[in-house]
Amino acid sequence: MKVLLIEDEAKISSYVAKAFTRAGHTVNAITDGQAGLITATSDPYDVIILDLGLPGRDGLEILSAIRGRSISTPVLILTARGDVKDRITGLNRGADDYLAKPFSMEELLARVNVLTRRKGEDASPLLRVGDLVMNETTHTVTRDGKTVHLSQREYEVLHFLMLNAGRTVTRMDICEHVWKSVLANDTNAVDVYIQRLRVKVDEDFPEKLIQTVRGTGYVMGAAEK
Ligand code: CA
Repeated sequence: MKVLLIEDEAKISSYVAKAFTRAGHTVNAITDGQAGLITATSDPYDVIILDLGLPGRDGLEILSAIRGRSISTPVLILTARGDVKDRITGLNRGADDYLAKPFSMEELLARVNVLTRRKGEDASPLLRVGDLVMNETTHTVTRDGKTVHLSQREYEVLHFLMLNAGRTVTRMDICEHVWKSVLANDTNAVDVYIQRLRVKVDEDFPEKLIQTVRGTGYVMGAAEK
């Protein structure tokens, strides 16, 4: 995760930067409001942690500039304890969360995780057929919560079947969409890939999701529950 931290108090800044770096994230720590504004509006970040009282430009100005440019990066503002007015203004101007100083690092990490997870979910449409779940952004596939490891081509075939769940797709359909080919020979490859997918997706489960439509092709579906 790429974190932009705009905070002028050196002690807090290094404390936050260290904790996020230790947690495996990349932190860009900026102490000046003007520089923070330029960075926040020009480089992409996964989350912005924004202090309100800053030299140059204050946090609320930076927040307005970010949202004014339709940048939807989650923003968590750091406010002085009890500063209710700033907190409300911040939320009204598009901050996603706030934390009053002094705060616990654990809480900051947890809140940032929630913010970025929420955003990730929005950006990652999930395809579902029964207990089989495909994330189209990360290309990960799970069945009953367990990861199914697929090659790129296997993923593409399964993706096409899942997009068409409940409809019969012919070998030629799959060939055209995945192999970008209409050669009859290649339809044999489709059968090979379906066989591999059956082993990976269906073999260990009583309910088989990939069905053969004799003489036509395949259909993917789960029984109604
Ligand atoms: Ca400050």
